[in-house]
Amino acid sequence: MNEQTSWKEADAELYAAWRSIFNAGWTSPDVPDPCPVCGSRTLHQWYAQDDSHATVLRGVRYKGRGRLWEWCSRCRTFEHYRDGFVPEWWVEPYSVEAGFLRYDPDPIEAARKAAEL
Ligand SMILES: [Zn+2]
Repeated sequence: MNEQTSWKEADAELYAAWRSIFNAGWTSPDVPDPCPVCGSRTLHQWYAQDDSHATVLRGVRYKGRGRLWEWCSRCRTFEHYRDGFVPEWWVEPYSVEAGFLRYDPDPIEAARKAAEL
């Protein structure tokens, strides 16, 4: 199996369940709810901050614009948002070299696994 093509985005049927989990206001890189696709408690999120223009949107404080990845390490379902805001609580639990970032979270998952060891 080709590792690089094994990631897949949440399909339309599961997208609502996926969003309601990630929109529940978790303030940690690991999300404790079970994955809506495979049931495993292996959901994660990771932000890349692109600027430092702090803002408040609908009562939530953000420290700048950035990109977000949400994924399950077991079934490799993911979502990526290229133009969003980084919440004030976010602190990188492990870093990923900016040049390695791509549409799917593969380099981020690799860094997460390496940090776990
Ligand atoms: Zn899963």
